[in-house]
Amino acid sequence: MIRCDYLVVGAGLAGVSVCEGIREKDRKGGVLLVGNEAVAGYRRADLAPCFLWPPDPRTGSKNASKSSSKPVDKPVDNGASDEGTEAVSAVGSGGQDPWRGLAVRRAADLEADLRVDVRLETTITQFNLERRQAVLSTGQALEFRKACLATGGRAARPAVAGAGLGNVFHLRTLRDAAAVREVMSLGGAGGTRVVVVGGGCLAAQAASLLVGWPGANVVLVHRGRALWQRWLDGLTAAWLGEVFAARGVQMRLGETLNGFEGRTVLRNVQTKSGARIPAAMALVACGVELNLGLVAQTPLGYPYGTPVNEFLETEEKGVFAAGEIAAYPDHTMGGLRRVEGAEALVQQGRVAGGNLTGKQRQRFEWLPHRHAELFGYAFDLVGDFSRPPVQTELEGDRESGRFVVRHLHGGQLVAAVGCNQEEGVIEGLKREMRARVTGRKRAVLR
Ligand SMILES: Cc1cc2nc3c(=O)[nH]c(=O)nc-3n(C[C@H](O)[C@H](O)[C@H](O)COP(=O)(O)OP(=O)(O)OC[C@H]3O[C@@H](n4cnc5c(N)ncnc54)[C@H](O)[C@@H]3O)c2cc1C
Repeated sequence: MIRCDYLVVGAGLAGVSVCEGIREKDRKGGVLLVGNEAVAGYRRADLAPCFLWPPDPRTGSKNASKSSSKPVDKPVDNGASDEGTEAVSAVGSGGQDPWRGLAVRRAADLEADLRVDVRLETTITQFNLERRQAVLSTGQALEFRKACLATGGRAARPAVAGAGLGNVFHLRTLRDAAAVREVMSLGGAGGTRVVVVGGGCLAAQAASLLVGWPGANVVLVHRGRALWQRWLDGLTAAWLGEVFAARGVQMRLGETLNGFEGRTVLRNVQTKSGARIPAAMALVACGVELNLGLVAQTPLGYPYGTPVNEFLETEEKGVFAAGEIAAYPDHTMGGLRRVEGAEALVQQGRVAGGNLTGKQRQRFEWLPHRHAELFGYAFDLVGDFSRPPVQTELEGDRESGRFVVRHLHGGQLVAAVGCNQEEGVIEGLKREMRARVTGRKRAVLR
């Protein structure tokens, strides 16, 4: 029987940040981090910029100067030999270093930096909340005092014919990203016919990068009438669609996926309208399903996520949740929310880790902010986009590629889309949203 003070389930960015938070407050307690991937703690948002960026025609390597990925905080060392690194090297060996910009944490790094026991490529298969016991995929049983769930999500897989064919990909893990790059690289000078399915952040970003590959022919199939409908008003969404079309992405909006055709490998993508689009590869980006299997049938397995209080503790004392699965009360914008953006994941993980030790009791507060780059347009999506705006106001103009669209409810700013804006402008919008809430609280107190 393995015994630990703190069990952290899931070694994504949130899980690793939880371990950091624990160590800041408790230097001695035994921490066990379990994750089922071969490496830990990388930012999935960096997968597309690192792996899907077209090779530089002069050198054959990824053109790092154009990359929209955040600066590398910890380059991976090729030469080391632990399990995690082997996996990374294996995926990197086919291309020219696409993974180098990915801040991957290896088991050895984490053990040395944080003094935690790390089990990668290992799954927690059973989790007993009441007894504080769990079972690993290796068959070992373990007992923990406290736990934090950070199991994140997996790519949603539409239940359509042919979904298991070769070259039908989802983009969630390092392995997925490496496989997509491999197929693109095999396309050769003739290029690859790619169908991207979806209209959200990931689908749009993937299409915008893949269309830059030599000779690539990219079709984007989306059942909605516009891209990014969750964030953009109709006019801005139409403008973005025109940008995509002008850059060579064939837009098939209002088309619903019906299935994939081929014998063993994909040949066509079918839509419900009867269209058959020839494709050598499909990239399906239709959202995420949360990994809540361990807590299914418990009050922690709520479909929107695991409910936590502002301290990130679930209703089960001593059991916390962080990252994509945690549904926390957002006191700034209201309602229940799940974090978006790497910065928020890190901060939330650290708060959860610190609180888990019992040596701090810190609230998690965050104003929702997501950053995405498409064709050189840098978008900041700030605030609450859960309800369609009653009114929008445009500052600047879309054609110049520099604008802000303010989303208003009852005359109050609830969300904003900034395109190619300075940091100061984005911070100003956040201040305005926070001030509205502070004003509301003052009014209630009076
Ligand atoms: C390509 C891509 C681009 C993205 N871009 C953005 C973006 O620009 N902005 C943004 O806000 N978000 C983006 N996201 C979403 C973002 O990556 C997620 O919100 C984030 O990864 C969540 O982190 P997490 O640590 O909570 O979960 P995850 O990163 O999903 O990590 C959880 C880990 O736990 C493992 N696990 C699950 N169950 C078990 C178990 N029983 N035992 C052991 N391990 C388990 C999972 O396999 C996984 O490795 C993007 C996602 C993808 C895939």
